[in-house]
Amino acid sequence: MERGSGWMAKRERVALRHGYRCAACDRVLMPGAWECDHIVPREQGGSNAESNLQPLCKDPCHREKSAREAHQRAKG
Ligand SMILES: [Zn+2]
Repeated sequence: MERGSGWMAKRERVALRHGYRCAACDRVLMPGAWECDHIVPREQGGSNAESNLQPLCKDPCHREKSAREAHQRAKG
């Protein structure tokens, strides 16, 4: 995944756009406890554009989304 200061700045903009709240459960994002999620997964052709990014709590929102995506991959 893309890293570095550019990515951190992008994360900040994504969080700001969502009012520093989780896009799934609307809880306030805590530093270090949320992740920048690709709405359309990279492996499904999703881009790194900010329009394809959303802030999610690490747990459970991002964990559950990742599990769902893994399940869908398994089904094929
Ligand atoms: Zn959440």
